[in-house]
Amino acid sequence: MTTLPTEPARPERAPRAARSQHVFVVDRTERLSPHLMRVHLGGEAVDGFLEAGAEQLEATDAYVKLLLPRPGSSLVPPFDLDALRTRVAADELPVRRTYTIRSVDRAARTIAIDFVVHGDVGVAGPWALAARPGDLLATSSPGGLWRPSADPAVPDLLLGDDSALPAIAAALERMPAGATGLALVEVEGPADELALEHPEGVELRWLHRGDAVPGTLLLEALRALDVPTGPVVVFAHGERGMVKEARVVLHDTWRLDRASLSISAYWALGREEDRFQAEKREPVGAIFAD
Ligand SMILES: Cc1cc2nc3c(=O)[nH]c(=O)nc-3n(C[C@H](O)[C@H](O)[C@H](O)COP(=O)(O)OP(=O)(O)OC[C@H]3O[C@@H](n4cnc5c(N)ncnc54)[C@H](O)[C@@H]3O)c2cc1C
Repeated sequence: MTTLPTEPARPERAPRAARSQHVFVVDRTERLSPHLMRVHLGGEAVDGFLEAGAEQLEATDAYVKLLLPRPGSSLVPPFDLDALRTRVAADELPVRRTYTIRSVDRAARTIAIDFVVHGDVGVAGPWALAARPGDLLATSSPGGLWRPSADPAVPDLLLGDDSALPAIAAALERMPAGATGLALVEVEGPADELALEHPEGVELRWLHRGDAVPGTLLLEALRALDVPTGPVVVFAHGERGMVKEARVVLHDTWRLDRASLSISAYWALGREEDRFQAEKREPVGAIFAD
């Protein structure tokens, strides 16, 4: 009697939805400043992530969606959200949060994400603060498309609060040596300033908000600038209220072309990211009227 070859035993695989997640292992963390925590992520997911996002990672604003279990949850990544939706309550599902890829260290096979530490509210900020080597973090593949001006004759204007600092830092680092322009970065105080690499021709100006509403000093500094007489490449991101006012200056008053403006809100005061993202489809969340 002939015996049919049996299927080789397969290791249990995560369902398809969960397979599209990259599950990193925390390698180490670094407290960069009172309000910024860097988390270095490594593990076997790195190669697949770099391959999946090869093009997007060329952008200086490359970002990922993190999937984070809520505090106290026993769920561990990868997450099969479809299956979880059938077994746990909506408010027990992992949350999505958006973060910039600050840098990739190809030799060490790690990626770094800088998290704003903004008190004990929220999920991502406290997660980063508590992260320890060996912890797991699930992310999407990267998105992103912005790059600083490639032409030294066309200056860059970068402006943002702590949440946009990772993307601004990545842009400054990757500008051509002869680049010109200005970066306005608002943080709480002098201890939050970082030693950032930047071309000589790009001024890096730190603004200290202290107790003021986030964005107040950025707007003051922006309104005090001379109206540019030629083309400028702009990257303006941070708290939504600030970004809307910055749009008034950059687009409505200065009349800069939409194509030269990368402008969007990264977060909104008093809103968890889920609500903030949902509001992008409502008038309160729109940066431009159309
Ligand atoms: C494309 C993109 C890239 C981003 N990159 C980064 C990044 O690299 N690093 C980073 O830290 N953030 C980044 N953000 C912003 C980040 O996604 C939000 O700040 C997010 O809300 C943080 O999640 P959380 O769970 O900590 O707080 P949530 O649960 O979303 O919010 C809880 C509370 O904290 C407040 N809050 C949220 N963020 C801040 C903040 N930065 N400062 C003060 N209060 C805050 C909210 O208003 C809310 O009241 C990025 C956003 C986008 C869209």
